[in-house]
Amino acid sequence: MKYRAPKGVQDIFPPEVYVWQEVEKKAKEVFSVYGYSEVRTPIIEFTEVFTRSIGEDTDIVEKEMYTFSDRAGRSITLRPEGTASVVRAYVQHHLYNLPSPQKFFYLGPMFRYERPQKGRYRQFHQIGAECFGEDDPRVDAELIEMLKRFLEEVGLSGLNFELNSIGCRKCRPEYRDVLIGFLAERVEHLCNDCIRRYRRNPLRVLDCKLEGCRKTTESAPQIPDYLCTECKEHFGALQQYLQRLNVSYTVNPRMVRGLDYYTRTTFEVTSESLGAQNAVAAGGRYDGLVEEFGGPSTPAIGFAVGMERLTTLLMEQREIQPPGLLGFFATMGEEAEEKAFFLVSELRKKGFWVEMDYRGKSLKSQFRKADRLGSRYVFIIGEDEIQKGVIKYKRMSDGAQGEVPEEEFINFLTSV
Ligand SMILES: [Zn+2]
Ligand SMILES: [Zn+2]
Repeated sequence: MKYRAPKGVQDIFPPEVYVWQEVEKKAKEVFSVYGYSEVRTPIIEFTEVFTRSIGEDTDIVEKEMYTFSDRAGRSITLRPEGTASVVRAYVQHHLYNLPSPQKFFYLGPMFRYERPQKGRYRQFHQIGAECFGEDDPRVDAELIEMLKRFLEEVGLSGLNFELNSIGCRKCRPEYRDVLIGFLAERVEHLCNDCIRRYRRNPLRVLDCKLEGCRKTTESAPQIPDYLCTECKEHFGALQQYLQRLNVSYTVNPRMVRGLDYYTRTTFEVTSESLGAQNAVAAGGRYDGLVEEFGGPSTPAIGFAVGMERLTTLLMEQREIQPPGLLGFFATMGEEAEEKAFFLVSELRKKGFWVEMDYRGKSLKSQFRKADRLGSRYVFIIGEDEIQKGVIKYKRMSDGAQGEVPEEEFINFLTSV
């Protein structure tokens, strides 16, 4: 019997996994300086957590969720994104009683039943951050600056931040009505999904990826023209802070994001090397979501970064540096093998990565193995060396050889 992993999932192993680890490490480093703590929420939630927040008539909820009944007949869903779970946890544990802002980041797998295609997976991974309790535009600017620093520090270049404001509870209804009126006159040019949805969710039509819908909405009224005074001021202040923080951006008045919960600030990050259609990160404000989940009125903002896109891009841009094997022990004779075995254990305790041969093969084949493993040194122990109390070495890069008294061996390793 031969097994294969299900469609649309992937195994991540060396050397790629080193890029993943590096990205995760950088995220933790950068985010912690901005006061973000890690939060680990479960991978399963009750289905309503997602249907209520993401929106009933989104692609995610309608077509893409992994939803099943557990043994007690409750509807459970594998999380398709991270924000809803973090908000659920924030409300469940009354974290709004702690001083604001409360700042969290997460990383881990998400699940969507999408058509498998290049760069899209059914189990994919995101790194995200969420900030609760402040609506000041400086918080938006800080969060975007943090995202920029993270992406730059992992080595992504040619970043473009696209920015928009999609208004609030007060001003969006007016825009919504105007947009519905605009779409109603052009309904025959829309795709079936958009026809079905445009009265309830006209903003989503602007987000439709299909050519016909894009063309139809080219001349649609734009939301920035309908913002209330507060939203306009908020958006204006955010832009000023971004300029002063040297975060360059473009305003894209069409960018509305696909999910129900966004308010005011929305943004997407693209990289020149990925093409404009493919955002590597995206986010926005969701000032009403905590309340929607039964908490007190709490403004919030967050983003998520797609790990698959990010790591693929990084691997195209530079060579992967796997951790290097310092030394391989080549031995001759049982006594030498025994000695090497315990020496390897000692050295590992001191933090040196060393390996040895277990098969009693010829010296030549042991050297070959050391070479294939990319070992920097080969250490040789045979009868002669045991008698003299030394360890011979050969540096693989240039063939330099020598011998070191056993008692000085650790000093030697520290110095190379
Ligand atoms: Zn407003
Ligand atoms: Zn459409």
